[in-house]
Amino acid sequence: MYMDVWSLRHALNLMNWDLETYMPVEGVFERSIAMSRINLMVQRLLTRKEFLEKLEIAEEIDDLNIYERGVIRVLKRDVNYYTKIPPSIIGELNKITSEASVVWRNAKVKEDFDMFKPYLERIFTLEREIVEYLGYSEHPYDALLDLYEEGLTTREFGNIASSMIPSLRKLLDRVLSDGYFPSSHRYEEEPYDPEVMKRINNKILEILGYDPARLRLDVSTHPFTSSIGIGDVRITTRYEGKDFRRTMLSVIHEYGHALYELQIDERLRATPLSTGASMGIHESQSRFWELMIGKSRAFVELLYREVLKGYIWSSDTEDLYKYFNIVKPSLIRVDADEITYNLHIALRFEIEKLAIGGEIKASDIPELWSELSERYIGIKPKKHSEGVLQDIHWSSGAIGYFPTYTIGTIVAAQIRDAIEKDLGDLSSHISRKNLNIVKQWLKEKIHRWGATYPPKQLVKMAIGKDIDPTSYILYLEKKYLTSSPP
Ligand SMILES: [Zn+2]
Repeated sequence: MYMDVWSLRHALNLMNWDLETYMPVEGVFERSIAMSRINLMVQRLLTRKEFLEKLEIAEEIDDLNIYERGVIRVLKRDVNYYTKIPPSIIGELNKITSEASVVWRNAKVKEDFDMFKPYLERIFTLEREIVEYLGYSEHPYDALLDLYEEGLTTREFGNIASSMIPSLRKLLDRVLSDGYFPSSHRYEEEPYDPEVMKRINNKILEILGYDPARLRLDVSTHPFTSSIGIGDVRITTRYEGKDFRRTMLSVIHEYGHALYELQIDERLRATPLSTGASMGIHESQSRFWELMIGKSRAFVELLYREVLKGYIWSSDTEDLYKYFNIVKPSLIRVDADEITYNLHIALRFEIEKLAIGGEIKASDIPELWSELSERYIGIKPKKHSEGVLQDIHWSSGAIGYFPTYTIGTIVAAQIRDAIEKDLGDLSSHISRKNLNIVKQWLKEKIHRWGATYPPKQLVKMAIGKDIDPTSYILYLEKKYLTSSPP
């Protein structure tokens, strides 16, 4: 029975990939109807009486192996959402978010928060109703966090954020006053030819050891990874025509997501387990490749030696390394550097928590945003597109998603530590282009399991530790405070 669900989702993934890449723009209307109908079919299949009964019976069996237990856990999470929340609420949320996405886009262009405000208020209200149906133990926001990051609670994430914020602030001040890492670089304005950059990106994928029979690279407005199956994973990037590190790092980031899907144990093919353990764990893979490999000194040197040598005139890899690691407090989350990125997330976490807790209204957000931005990042937005209107997430109803970015980053640093403990100095493996050993480690410890284990348990098994920001802070301090020559 699940094969039908899997097949429909397989089709949905491909339809969505096509929508984001090559579909003629006028196709969007019919595509969204077809996709929402197929989504409803998935929902119906998952909530059919026979299916729910079988699931209940399976749950009672004592001697299940870990995979069978994983399947039941994942399916129950899937079914839970559709059976606990009345279809009328899900329908209304779908309707309001599809309208809100259009309104949000216009409001952002016009810098008009009042246009978007009633939609945001309605979305928060619906989400507050949803959490009541889903249930929670301590804070209503727990129920939403759990949708994206199984088992994550408001208290836990609050502790992570409050322990990180002062260290990140302090580090930022020191790095800025040190001046070794620049806040801007001439390469940011350096134009490039997208055709040339495409060739460079393919060479980067070769260095990373990709298999063209199972992975392809295309172009879309926003880079993303789409897993159609274990044998067919697709990533995208965009070519903005200048500031070349952005497209390169996006390819490396998406490669991290893709590798996770590609290295899932083939025995899990077409089962509910053939996916990542959670959004946060997925992001830990992309961030590990992007930050800990892509932005490392060893990788930048390798990149110069193997790829960029013929394309950029400067042979100063120190300079190139600085360009890859610009540090600058900015207002836009997606442009943020490694040090300030998680401050942007802490801000959003605080606002979402208060909104779902019923402590603030949509109309309070712009002012609160400014206040938190000033406190965490040291600057505040002058317009709504730099503040409350900058991200797509709220308009699409993805509340509780942002914290997974921080979970991903801190787990990436913990993985880096664990790899160094097991395999020795990471940078020497990178310098020797010995990335296979790193990929094998990730496969063995994390990827092959797919969604068999819940995220916290998987991390504990893989690295012997709980999720914790200490490694990340130490990684940043080591990189950003000791990089400058004496
Ligand atoms: Zn990502």
